[in-house]
Amino acid sequence: MSQQDNDKQELGTRELRINPIIPTESVLIATARSMRPQKAEDAAPRDTRHHVERCPFCLGNEDKTPPEITRIAKEGGEEGEWAIRIVENLYPVLGDDRQNPDMVFGLQQAINGYGRHEVIVDHSQHGIAIHEMSQSHLSLLFQTYQKRMKELYESDERLKYVLIFKNFGPAAGASMAHTHSQIIATPVIPQNVQDEVTYSKKYYEKHHHCIFCTLVDEALTYEATIYDRDSGEVVRKINVGQYVVERGKHFIAIKPFASRYEWEVHILPLVHKSDFIKATEEELDDFALVLKRTMQRLDAVIGGAQYNYFLHTIPLDEQYDNCKNSFHWHLEICPRTSIPSGFELGSGLFVNTVSPEEAAAQLSAVVLDEE
Ligand SMILES: [Zn+2]
Ligand SMILES: [Zn+2]
Ligand SMILES: [Zn+2]
Repeated sequence: MSQQDNDKQELGTRELRINPIIPTESVLIATARSMRPQKAEDAAPRDTRHHVERCPFCLGNEDKTPPEITRIAKEGGEEGEWAIRIVENLYPVLGDDRQNPDMVFGLQQAINGYGRHEVIVDHSQHGIAIHEMSQSHLSLLFQTYQKRMKELYESDERLKYVLIFKNFGPAAGASMAHTHSQIIATPVIPQNVQDEVTYSKKYYEKHHHCIFCTLVDEALTYEATIYDRDSGEVVRKINVGQYVVERGKHFIAIKPFASRYEWEVHILPLVHKSDFIKATEEELDDFALVLKRTMQRLDAVIGGAQYNYFLHTIPLDEQYDNCKNSFHWHLEICPRTSIPSGFELGSGLFVNTVSPEEAAAQLSAVVLDEE
């Protein structure tokens, strides 16, 4: 190793990266050990049991959950066997007009008023992880999300946004060990979604191109050159194909250049689509495979890590009709491998201690079995 390489190792990468979608958000990529202000977050103890007698979400315990909203029967299963259930949340952060106002939920959104909060029991098997579910089950799960989102939008026109998310592990906010995801329908657009919609529209107005499509194109291009704005000199060349984690026929999983979390990965349609609800069954089959393989890669590299995933799609309200060309739906997967420090909480600046290039290299290097 040369002296230069040595120096580079000691210093690591240290750069401030601006989120290309939301330019008011930035992240400090700081890989040198001395730059790590964070504590490692423990992996969630993995409960791999198939069935737990006292778990209300397990098969046979259906009478122990709050009222059931929907049940998807298991294909070829026994009488009463189900694949997915949607139930009301026992402790809703907001409810159907029966609520006290001004609550705060996990996504930092204060809600004044009403809404819906439901739980989706992802699978009848207690401790199964997303990467262990079959492709057809995952496709069914996302079709179920779609169906319920649609029903909620149609049920009450005051509901302006339906957010689907999943928490895995106590640090990620999951209170139940049994695999589940959640639906929150709110009378306002969550701030993160609003920011993405607003800024991507600004980008579109300036460049006549969707920023998300641009990121996908860049991820697929082998190389990009960054020029200095004033002198026109080459500042840096990046091999951008390096950000691709997984690729299907219709979807791509990429490691964002300005990732807030060390192992954050986003999955998005390869071709411009703004509305998740309109994704076809064939597309969701492909999405399921890309998700499964991405989660397998994450499991191989950071096995058992706690994580959140959430779905961002265009709000249905007609005032967003003019954002259809600029907004591109996607799933954000955010593993929690470190505890935010006071610096991060105080400054709002995320510190990422694994460079996105290194994380992408490790994830894409995982050898998976072909299905
Ligand atoms: Zn269970
Ligand atoms: Zn697009
Ligand atoms: Zn998003």
